[in-house]
Amino acid sequence: MIKVGVIGVGHLGKVHAKLWKEVAGAELMGVFDTNIEEASKLAAELGCKAYPTVQALLDATDGVSIVTPTSFHYQVALEGIDRGKHLFIEKPITSTVAEAKELVEIAKKKNVQIQVGHIERFNPALLAAEPYIKEPKFFESHRLAQFKPRGTDVAVVLDLMIHDIDVILSLVKTDVVSVDASGVSVVSDEIDIANARIKFAGGAVANVTASRISQNPMRKLRIFERDAYLSIDFAAKNTEVFRLASKKDASGSNSLQFNLGEIERAERKLNIIYEKPEVKDLNPLRYELERFCEVVSGNNAPIVSGYDGLRALEVAEHIMTSIEKE
Ligand code: NAD
Repeated sequence: MIKVGVIGVGHLGKVHAKLWKEVAGAELMGVFDTNIEEASKLAAELGCKAYPTVQALLDATDGVSIVTPTSFHYQVALEGIDRGKHLFIEKPITSTVAEAKELVEIAKKKNVQIQVGHIERFNPALLAAEPYIKEPKFFESHRLAQFKPRGTDVAVVLDLMIHDIDVILSLVKTDVVSVDASGVSVVSDEIDIANARIKFAGGAVANVTASRISQNPMRKLRIFERDAYLSIDFAAKNTEVFRLASKKDASGSNSLQFNLGEIERAERKLNIIYEKPEVKDLNPLRYELERFCEVVSGNNAPIVSGYDGLRALEVAEHIMTSIEKE
């Protein structure tokens, strides 16, 4: 059994605490929040302890979820690393690249593992798509949300777009070579809608759009590569694949599959195959915590490491700089 705790039990921290109770192999020792009343109420509900200080909670655990507002991630994470505790840090890892770099470096020196809460990597729609993704050439992503005051203290790039930045960085194995972005503040004082074109060495391009002022919510990623087009709907948890295959590779899959017809290319006959891979019924946040539990136990490396969180933040910062130059 590993001992865990949650620091910051606002909107998302409460969900972390409740889900930790469901993770086999983990024991929720307690929670800490600067709002002592909220922490005590939740602790009573979950049958755990509301610790009086962040240090007291850290001392009672092997690893913690840090779910404070982003501006406090750095300071709380430093306390955790100092005590040698493994950290699940909600996304974005920190407010600035400099802070994230420092955390990653110190954690490495102290043998502390950091996992960052880029939850879409655990979305079963992406997991179903991954075996089909080989060498993406073009991405089109839309993450559109209705306006809510929560989260508007940071630009939509750090709040929403960073999810797609992280997923795309995990699928392209080369470096970012350029970023060109536009954005507008409409309702809040920060950027509410943004679009970025990210170019990678080797030629892959991502056209990424995020908005928090949209009437109709959407969380979709479309991926184009030679011989295949994939559509991933993170909200509906649905994946569709259109791919070209010779007769031989067109059969043998377990997923729902139709042959949409035949085309001839370079004197080869190819089938246009439509597939709807099976998408597992899983709660991405619980799955994320289960994987972190394995990290704390020393059985696995984090799927989304502190370094991944840093890379996503670096690209987000380039996007913000590009918007500011407009
Ligand atoms: P929130 O404002 O609802 O909750 C934050 C809580 O932290 C509050 O209860 C506050 O009292 C407490 N707090 C503030 N400073 C603290 C400190 N120094 N120590 C301990 N507690 C402190 O915020 P939220 O919406 O739950 O977001 C929290 C984090 O989760 C943010 O980093 C946000 O970006 C991230 N988040 C991630 C996702 C996702 O999809 N992965 C979704 C929402 C939020």
